Amino acid sequence: MKPKNLILFVSIILSAFVFTAFAVKSFGWSLFEQNPAQIKNMAVKVNFKQKNIIKSADSTDFCGEFKPVMSKEELKDKLSDEQFKVTQEKGTERPFSNKYWDNHDKGMYYCVVCGQELFNSDTKFESGTGWPSFFKPVKDENVKEEEDVTLGMHRTEVVCSNCGAHLGHVFDDGPNPTGLRYCMNSAALNFKKTDGVDK
Ligand SMILES: [Zn+2]
Repeated sequence: MKPKNLILFVSIILSAFVFTAFAVKSFGWSLFEQNPAQIKNMAVKVNFKQKNIIKSADSTDFCGEFKPVMSKEELKDKLSDEQFKVTQEKGTERPFSNKYWDNHDKGMYYCVVCGQELFNSDTKFESGTGWPSFFKPVKDENVKEEEDVTLGMHRTEVVCSNCGAHLGHVFDDGPNPTGLRYCMNSAALNFKKTDGVDK
């Protein structure tokens, strides 16, 4: 090998070595140079994120058994802040100051998210709670009931069977003929009078 080529060869080998050492130092070894508590903390964060992903896949969050109606961004555009909070984050609106608690018109209440029929005004009754209350859904299969143990209570959550929107809760202290009280949030509903006009 000519001396000129030898110098070139050695230079390339040296450059490769320096580059490799730099890369390992920056992206590999640096992790282990941090203190163990930091590394543990990172692991906990990753674990927490994974748990949340699993949780959202199990929930009514457009996944699992429910059809995705719209993306979260589209829903935020379509719904008011309160409608989004109630239907997507299982919120509860204030009693006596919501849209339908005192509505006595004849008509149908639809899911505000997907438009599925939910409750007929013929089944609405005065519960005194300040929320629209019904003794049964228009069809049993149009709502789905789920166990809710949040807020230190044991309740039965009611969601739209088509899109999974949170609607409210059902209690067993309702009037005849069912003895049930579907306590709904107005913000989860869209009422159309029998003559077809939105209210
Ligand atoms: Zn729905």
